Amino acid sequence: MKKIFQLIVIALLSLSVLFGCKENKLKALIVTGQNNHNWEESHIILKKILENSGTFNVETSISPAKGEDMSSFVPDFYAFDVIVLDYNGDEWPEKTKKNFEKYVKDGGGVVVYHASDNSFPAWKEYNVMIGLGGWKGRNEKSGSYVYYNNRDELIRDNSEGNGGEHGPQHEFVIEIRDTEHSIVKGLNKRWLHSQDELYSKLRGPAQNMNIIATAYADTSYKGTGRHEPILMTIEYGKGRVFHTVLGHVGSEKVHYATQDAGFIITLQRGAEWAATGEVKQQLPEDLPNVGSAFLLPNYKFYTLDELFAKAKSFEYGKAQKYLYLISNRIREAKGGSEKLKDFENRILKTMQSDDATSECKNYFCRELSWMGSEKSLPLLNELLKNDETSEMAQFALTRLQQQ
Ligand code: ZN
Repeated sequence: MKKIFQLIVIALLSLSVLFGCKENKLKALIVTGQNNHNWEESHIILKKILENSGTFNVETSISPAKGEDMSSFVPDFYAFDVIVLDYNGDEWPEKTKKNFEKYVKDGGGVVVYHASDNSFPAWKEYNVMIGLGGWKGRNEKSGSYVYYNNRDELIRDNSEGNGGEHGPQHEFVIEIRDTEHSIVKGLNKRWLHSQDELYSKLRGPAQNMNIIATAYADTSYKGTGRHEPILMTIEYGKGRVFHTVLGHVGSEKVHYATQDAGFIITLQRGAEWAATGEVKQQLPEDLPNVGSAFLLPNYKFYTLDELFAKAKSFEYGKAQKYLYLISNRIREAKGGSEKLKDFENRILKTMQSDDATSECKNYFCRELSWMGSEKSLPLLNELLKNDETSEMAQFALTRLQQQ
């Protein structure tokens, strides 16, 4: 009887999971298919990042190739909470443009990602939506910079350098300007962004625009010597637009710009804000900071299990990243004794596993020296017997006995 009851509970739970998920997730549509970038890879990366947040179901709409008949390209924007633009190419059909304008005016969400702000220089409403763009007119045969200014005038400027540009890729510090905005609230005010293009000299209507973060464009990387807008929000009718200039994806083997933790967090949160006007996603435990660029090669944050699994194989000369991430979390847990107990158990389990290196054990001896309990004593005494670990084990034991 008990077993049947358990089975019913399990069946009900799995049903609610099945239906609950579908109903709760926001619907995102990535629009791509033409770009002066590697859109074949970038739209997959964007999809992974959005799905890894647990907040979105993501679909993709791929346009006809450059130069092909675009008249059939009519995505159903209204079926989605947010449209993510990874598109820089031929003009959309007039019907699609009008649909898009109406969708956003009626309260739809938009994410403008990287070179999407190069697109459609002569489409006035698009320029109002993105706030800033102003690159060389790609769809104008002229090579002039084309943009709408804040008086609704279409500007074509042939003077060299008077429009969107960027120098060579490099790491740069992102500085949050609107620390209370829900997209970035709780993040470190400054973090080092991994190698990327720093878009500069963007031009445009800049109506109803809020600059959330900037970065200093260093002249040694052909920058302007000024802070340039990096993350922006724009209100358009009842709609919300999140504009990130970050995330270059080209022909390079590793796409560092999109692996950057700060890029990932702000894209996930920016997309939710664009969709709903608020951000319910929790901040991850490991936040990017100015010390070093923080890369997530799988486009998601590490779980504790993953971190400890990687920590086991640590050797001197190898990246200590995983150990540092564990130590950071331990320090954050300092106040709560239950959490510290859990960390102690995990550390002991890791140190006792057959494939844990001596370097891994020595590293954790240092942590146990301040947060270990009596539970750690037998293992530390055991480590005394091994030449490679005796010194750090003695250090930990001495410190623990002084407490
Ligand atoms: Zn780029």
